[in-house]
Amino acid sequence: MTRKDAIVIGLGISGCSAARLLAESGYSVTCFEGESHIGGSLFEDVRPNGIRVQTRGPQIFHTDSENVYQFIKRFGSFFPYHHRVFLSYQDTMVPLPLNANSLKSLFGAKQSESLLSRLRESFPDEKRISVDQLISCHDSKLIDLGRFMIENILTLDINHKEGSSFIPADDSYMNDAYVDIGNDDCYYTDSIQAMPMQGFMSVMENMIDHPAISTYLNTNALTRISIHQDNSTVLFDGIPFHGPIIYTPTLDKLFKYCYGALPYRSCKISFQDIRTDFKNNCAVILSPKSRDFVRITESKYMTLQDMSGHTSLCMESPYESASRGINEPFEPALTPESIELYGKYAALAKSCPSIHLLGRIACYRNLSIGETIEQTIDVISRL
Ligand SMILES: Cc1cc2nc3c(=O)[nH]c(=O)nc-3n(C[C@H](O)[C@H](O)[C@H](O)COP(=O)(O)OP(=O)(O)OC[C@H]3O[C@@H](n4cnc5c(N)ncnc54)[C@H](O)[C@@H]3O)c2cc1C
Repeated sequence: MTRKDAIVIGLGISGCSAARLLAESGYSVTCFEGESHIGGSLFEDVRPNGIRVQTRGPQIFHTDSENVYQFIKRFGSFFPYHHRVFLSYQDTMVPLPLNANSLKSLFGAKQSESLLSRLRESFPDEKRISVDQLISCHDSKLIDLGRFMIENILTLDINHKEGSSFIPADDSYMNDAYVDIGNDDCYYTDSIQAMPMQGFMSVMENMIDHPAISTYLNTNALTRISIHQDNSTVLFDGIPFHGPIIYTPTLDKLFKYCYGALPYRSCKISFQDIRTDFKNNCAVILSPKSRDFVRITESKYMTLQDMSGHTSLCMESPYESASRGINEPFEPALTPESIELYGKYAALAKSCPSIHLLGRIACYRNLSIGETIEQTIDVISRL
């Protein structure tokens, strides 16, 4: 088979899946990653006590697509994992998204029963009702519930503007903004929820372990790739390149920030190793009003590691913004203005037929791991 050439920029889960699928479709794939390691948002580290931690906060694999699950499972075994998140509110801990148990702990048995029957009456066909639905319904008690959620759970939503939605566009993982009428404490509702036995890094390393894939770490791809002044040809080391280029970092930097920087959210993360079996009683505790740590993750719940007497906490400090390469871009800060700005960059990218945007950062969408893989499978199959 004569192999064709392709380039992948960024080796997070999008880039790694794309590289693998391109290699399996007969391409010779050159990958560039700016960091000294692959992984992007799914990068993991091992603490001195041996516990594997996700360095960008908790990342759980969830999807309704059997096709996506079959693909990722080729690169590592997975165990079923049901993620649980608790809200720390005054002196109590309640499951998130809020459910029948949470309402009872927060408001007492009588009031929670009344709220549940009002929820069933106003939303007879729904199990999870969003805060947007609550605040725009006609029941004053449910509007109050929505306001309670905005004030006590969604305080981190720095993007929110009066009159706009609280649920980020395309969102599939931010379940904090919902109330569930059942009493299942599970954070996600997808039919498949699982974690890799050896971690996501091992899965991604296996993806790019293919003879047709060459990987260059510590390489800012934009020192090798540029856009010709005709605004449509991509140059690789100064020579026109017409094969597919999979692009996964921020799009503004590809076009030298010509319209200004796209805003992203970032976050400060620190770790604490503790000599005890488990410190908290669930994987994630959210404290939106805390000045110190808004989210604490106890990684051991998500790794199945048998490390008795030791645990590690991952603590996230309030979000900071990220742009022009300052702070790592965790997720797009979606506002009507930023979406419009992104549209201008997307139009420039569209004029370059060899460029294909993939993933959460380059596409400026709140995609989950499963959705980025689904998108990748779709884009590569159409090349
Ligand atoms: C806090 C948080 C929690 C999340 N929780 C979940 C969850 O529970 N479940 C879920 O399904 N999803 C979750 N997600 C989403 C999930 O992490 C992402 O969808 C996915 O990891 C995105 O992968 P990506 O490859 O598109 O981007 P990234 O992982 O950001 O990869 C982009 C890569 O490009 C590299 N790069 C940047 N610039 C250059 C350059 N100039 N040259 C070369 N390389 C470059 C970067 O170093 C990086 O490795 C979460 C995300 C965040 C931020």
